[in-house]
Amino acid sequence: MLDKLTIKDIDCKGKKVFMRVDFNVPVDSHQNITDDSRIRAVVPTINYLLDEGAAIIIASHMGRPNGEVKKELSLTMIAKRLQRLLQKDVIMADDCVGEEVDRMKRELKPEEILLLENLRFHNEEKDNDSEFAAELAKHVDVYIDDAFATAHRAHASIAAITEHVDVSVAGFLMTRELEYFHKSMEDPKKPFVAIIGGAKVSSKMGVLKNLIDRVDKLIIGGGMAFTFLKARHHCIGKSIVEDDMIATAKQIMKSARKKGVKLYLPVDCVVADKFHEKAETKVLPVQEIPAEWMALDIGPATTMLFSEAIQNAKTIIWNGPMGVFEMDAFSRGTYKMVSAVASTYAMTIVGGGDTDVAIHKAGETSNFSYISTGGGAFLELLEGKVLPGIAALTAKPREGTADA
Ligand code: AMP
Repeated sequence: MLDKLTIKDIDCKGKKVFMRVDFNVPVDSHQNITDDSRIRAVVPTINYLLDEGAAIIIASHMGRPNGEVKKELSLTMIAKRLQRLLQKDVIMADDCVGEEVDRMKRELKPEEILLLENLRFHNEEKDNDSEFAAELAKHVDVYIDDAFATAHRAHASIAAITEHVDVSVAGFLMTRELEYFHKSMEDPKKPFVAIIGGAKVSSKMGVLKNLIDRVDKLIIGGGMAFTFLKARHHCIGKSIVEDDMIATAKQIMKSARKKGVKLYLPVDCVVADKFHEKAETKVLPVQEIPAEWMALDIGPATTMLFSEAIQNAKTIIWNGPMGVFEMDAFSRGTYKMVSAVASTYAMTIVGGGDTDVAIHKAGETSNFSYISTGGGAFLELLEGKVLPGIAALTAKPREGTADA
């Protein structure tokens, strides 16, 4: 379980807290927020702090301004949305450090909320600069990290800042993310099945290697399956492939055999004559992919095979779509898997940017046990890495020690 302090372990009454969140939400070309789930996800922490009478300083990054002030990446529209969600005034600062921000932080009263401007308007944020972190920490009693989606970054507001405050704890979102993750990876109810899709094997190598030691079944779909199929000497036509990963794919299959992990690959696919929504398509067994065509989705037999394979699962982890689901013509496999996973009796945990989009679109959100807000962070946890944002939090005193 989590060996770090959480918001429930400390007293926030009347304290001035600095809350790092991830408000890096998608916006359209008119700066309208198209999905505010990351803002909603931290509302419970904010409400709790308001109930405790804390003065709340909130900080986030948005996009990649590369150290420059970019109007389109201002958090002003986030302040508005947050205000609406909380039904409470949110004071917006026009920077995240500096004299004026200092004054605003100093004068912030209990139950008031101050949202700082985009942290990445300063390069020092990404550089994990200690002086910049010290400025962020000025007037702060308690640091709360609720930015799970950014926990894999050693940035100033995540790592260095913790050296300038007395206590650093996980917020409710961070705690929930880690609890679900630990439940599934450290102590999974068996059978434990992992479904891994997406484009590239190389980006998920570490994940596959780590999972093979834990799961009972490994289902591989999406573009990455074709590197495995090529490793099994299938002709995959013009499907996406990483030739330099073929040896690794062979190793993973060998290791699965040795460990008794059942590995499932597509048996049929939707092939297209070009990478285009309006391409000509056919459904074919993987043995019959024409040399000039590419496979862009799993086929109906595969959907059935994968759905059967997860039926008796008690824990399912899923990352990555089964096909190019952004195009309607190649989205069926992913959506069929969404409903197959949703209808199991397993604890179902989903992480990674794309898969959750498909689940939201399918309206199945409530039928999953947990949908992580983290893409990269979730993947790094799956790889077995220690995330800087978690490492930096204050350790829980061990039972039996004087401070316990
Ligand atoms: P990832 O970020 O690795 O999870 O990859 C997600 C991307 O994989 C999505 O944008 C999909 O369009 C893409 N993808 C899934 N299946 C395929 C495929 N068969 N061929 C090409 N790209 C794919």
